[in-house]
Amino acid sequence: MSDRRDFIKKAALGTIGISSVLSCTSVTSATAAVPVVSSGKKGSKPFVISTWNHGLPANDETWKQLKNGKSAIDAIEAGMRIPEADPKVRSVGYGGFPDREGKVTLDACIMDHNSDCGAVSFLQGIKHPISVAKNVMQNTPHVMLSGEGALQFALSEGFKEENLLTAEAEADWKKWMEESKYKPVINMENHDTISMLVIDKDGNISGGCTTSGAAWKMHGRVGDSPIIGAGLFLDNEVGGAASTGLGEAVIRTAGSAMVVELMRQGKSPLEACKEIVERIYNKHKNHRDMEYLQVGFIAINKNGEHAGYSLRSGFNYAITDEAEGSRMEDATFKMSWEE
Ligand code: ASP
Repeated sequence: MSDRRDFIKKAALGTIGISSVLSCTSVTSATAAVPVVSSGKKGSKPFVISTWNHGLPANDETWKQLKNGKSAIDAIEAGMRIPEADPKVRSVGYGGFPDREGKVTLDACIMDHNSDCGAVSFLQGIKHPISVAKNVMQNTPHVMLSGEGALQFALSEGFKEENLLTAEAEADWKKWMEESKYKPVINMENHDTISMLVIDKDGNISGGCTTSGAAWKMHGRVGDSPIIGAGLFLDNEVGGAASTGLGEAVIRTAGSAMVVELMRQGKSPLEACKEIVERIYNKHKNHRDMEYLQVGFIAINKNGEHAGYSLRSGFNYAITDEAEGSRMEDATFKMSWEE
C-alpha cells in the first residue's frame, strides 16, 4: 500500500518538468510582488498575441501571412511551425524535452472563428503537430486524434515520420535520469507552450496551441494544451483565451473556457484572467502541486482589448499590431515565487 502511495506521489511530481513551471527570467529576480491590474489594452485589427519569447518569431510569421491575405488559421499554423521546428525551443516540437522514457510526445490544437477545431495529443515522430491538428479539423469528422491513431492519420496525410529527440535533449534526459528525483526543476533557460490568439482584419478570432508538454512527464501524460476549453478556447462573439503552465491545474478548472465565459459576462480580458488565476490558486493552495504551481493566461476580446496574467511572476507574451509591430509585454501576476 505504501509502495502504491509512494508511486502515486512520485507520479504526480514527475508530471511537472522543467518546462511546466514556467521558468523565466524574472523567476529569480522576483521580490515582493505588487501586481498592477489595469483593465486591459485596446488593440487594432489585425492583432496577434502569443505566449513567451518564442512567440515573437511566431507572431512575425503569422503577421506576414495575414498581410499576404492568408486566413487566420493558415497564419496561425505558419507562425507556430517556427518554434516547432526550432531545436533551441525546448518545450515545443523538435528539440522538446522528452518524457521520462526518453520519448518526445507532442500535443496541439487549433480553433477557428466558427468554433470549428482540431487537436492531436500524445503524438510522436511528427515535427508539426499544429499542422496535423489543422488537418484533423479540416479533413476528419472528429476534433481530437491521439497517439498511434494520430500518427497513422498524419502519415496518411503525407507527413513524414522523424526522430524529434535532439542530441541536446537526449543528453539532458540522461542527466536527469542519473538522479531522477521526480521533482520539478525551476530554471531560467526554458520557455513553455506556445499559445496564440489572432484577431483578423474582419475582427474574427482564432487560436492555436502547441507543446511538448511537461519535461520528464509520465509516458502517456497529456496536458491542457490540446484540450479545447482547457489550453485554448474562444467564442467569436466574445473573445478568446489560452494558457501555459501546469496543465493539470488548468484542466481541473477548465481554465480557458472559464476566462471566455467571464468575458461574456462583461469582465475585461485582464479581469477575467485574474479571476481564473485566483480560482486556480484557491483550489490549489493546500494541494501537493502548490510548491511549483504556475499558470498563465492570455486573452483578447471583440473590442481588441488584450491581457496576460499569471499566478507567479515571470510570464511574458508577444504582441503584434500595425502601429508598433512585434514586442514583448510582461504579464501582471498574483505573487512572487518566494511567497
Ligand atoms: N501547459 C503545458 C502542459 O501542461 C506546459 C506548459 O505550458 O509549459 O503540458
